[in-house]
Amino acid sequence: MAQSAPSRTLHELADGVYVWLQPGGESGVSNAGVIVDDDGVTIVDTMMVRSQWEPFAEAVKALDVPMRRIVLTHGHIDHVGGTKAFPHAGVFASPQTSAVLDQHMPIDAYKTFMSAFEEEFDDLAELGTRPATHLIDGAASLTPRVEVLPASGHTEGDVIVLVADADVCFPGDLCFFGVTPLAFQGDPAKWADMLEAVVDLADTIVPGHGPVGGEREVRELQAYLRACVDAKGDPSAIPPGPWDSWLERERPHAVCECSSWKTSGRWWFVNAWPTPG
Ligand SMILES: [Zn+2]
Repeated sequence: MAQSAPSRTLHELADGVYVWLQPGGESGVSNAGVIVDDDGVTIVDTMMVRSQWEPFAEAVKALDVPMRRIVLTHGHIDHVGGTKAFPHAGVFASPQTSAVLDQHMPIDAYKTFMSAFEEEFDDLAELGTRPATHLIDGAASLTPRVEVLPASGHTEGDVIVLVADADVCFPGDLCFFGVTPLAFQGDPAKWADMLEAVVDLADTIVPGHGPVGGEREVRELQAYLRACVDAKGDPSAIPPGPWDSWLERERPHAVCECSSWKTSGRWWFVNAWPTPG
């Protein structure tokens, strides 16, 4: 049930649940969300560079309610780059994401990996990101509407945000819809299993990258990840499927081979695009 919600605007998906979608969904082009509670808003992820998060932050400000919390679904720069746009919000993150935020930003690697944003990375380097203020180390209700659920698969420290009353969940990069998942720090087998839980959480799923979807899109991603596991590092062994029309199809090499360099930590960039074969 892929939905055609407008992009680069605060779109109300359900009562008091907004999405800010970026078209495409390739590397560095992620989505964000906003959930309204009585005390103010919870922001889910913050995108990467100023041209992305500045209009988002202005739109959230225009809601004219306090910006209470940011929940970071994981530590990748295209989700945490805009934390400084919300200076008074608590920053909720997994211990793994918190550790990433405390490290030096590998700007040169970002420039290499996401060259389309090369010029904006200097601004990001100067600005920096905010540290976590609250650690998510177990399932918790942050507000009457917002639950956070620790997970893993895309990274070791994923967090899913669930708004049960609206039947909407934000699984971050555990879901890529219409775009090949980036799994350099992931575990495709564990990730596919985790998606079994995601489909049970809510009917409407806001992915980290790509358009809003539901169970069908999650099942396609799950099938793809399992095909990658079965391919045992050989991209040519991945059978035809809906993934053939996804963006960034050069990624299977990264997916297939990732389990052998899962331990590479933040400096995965060096190995992010291994040559096939
Ligand atoms: Zn990610």
